[in-house]
Amino acid sequence: MLTFFNEHHTHYNARFELSNGERVPCSERPERVDLVAAEFTRRGLGRIVTPHGVPLVSLERVHTPRYLHFLRSSWSQWLALDPGNAERDARPGAWPVRGMRHDVEPDSFGGKLGLYAMDNDTPLTAGTWIAAKTGADCAVNAAHALRLGETSSFALTRPPGHHAGADYFGGFCFLNNAALAAQHLLDDGLQRVAILDIDYHHGNGTQSIFYGRKDVLFVSIHADPRSDYPYYLGHADETGDGEGLGCNMNLPLARGASSAHWFAALETACIKISGFAPQALVVSLGVDGFAGDPRSHFGLASSDFLRIGERLAWLGLPAVFVFEGGSSVPELGINVVNVLEGFETAA
Ligand SMILES: [Zn+2]
Repeated sequence: MLTFFNEHHTHYNARFELSNGERVPCSERPERVDLVAAEFTRRGLGRIVTPHGVPLVSLERVHTPRYLHFLRSSWSQWLALDPGNAERDARPGAWPVRGMRHDVEPDSFGGKLGLYAMDNDTPLTAGTWIAAKTGADCAVNAAHALRLGETSSFALTRPPGHHAGADYFGGFCFLNNAALAAQHLLDDGLQRVAILDIDYHHGNGTQSIFYGRKDVLFVSIHADPRSDYPYYLGHADETGDGEGLGCNMNLPLARGASSAHWFAALETACIKISGFAPQALVVSLGVDGFAGDPRSHFGLASSDFLRIGERLAWLGLPAVFVFEGGSSVPELGINVVNVLEGFETAA
């Protein structure tokens, strides 16, 4: 499987995250990718290559220009407030909630930060832009590889992307890699693309980006937002809007869902995808549904990830896999590569 690897991912290394009000080591850290790369190489699953840089205009197919401008310039704006900020990550302290204005970008950096952030636990750091941009390069290159004849490809990158919307970041996501991959496939000639998100958390950003569109089907299997992040999107009654009605399917599962529950949802997802008759599949590959992941309340075992890959192969579609969530437990690389190997062997 042709894999695109972003060596600049290490530039995103936030100082801490908050857990029950305490500062703890950031869970979205560089070793996540290292674990996957080591396992991928150990099994000899294919070549790992460096992506070409894609032009900014490609990112504007998914994200708003003012948001991209903010992300690119945010660190220099943060430093301009106080050179001592070089030693601190930037976090928002105010948000435009219901009834407030989103259309006017404040001049204040703090105001801008709140406008573009969906939570307080996705720090902006010196390396945010370079890591996110080169990660997006991986996703777009992986999508393009399908157009060059590959039957599958993998964007091995972080920070992840599926929580990032057209004009906001959150959940350690800044640029929506899966959405960029799908949009590239469409811009390069396809008429219909399906995105399947199997991360433990709902892909709110991806859903939002395509919610009114009929050329992209978004299907997500995730923890019920009543109990888990991102809390405010991901319910079963969100089915699309306007001409996109029917092109969004959420399959939320209660905490404690077993492998059998999860695979029943996967079957529903696969039937929906087949009915849409897409020409390619983008998989938001998060493995934090693994029973041994500290964020998980599902019962997926490492061997289940092989079966997931096999089932996806039976769809008979060229597929781009985009790495999303999964804590850096020892099985992280095994679980991710199991999906890829299951797909390769059954395809
Ligand atoms: Zn997740």
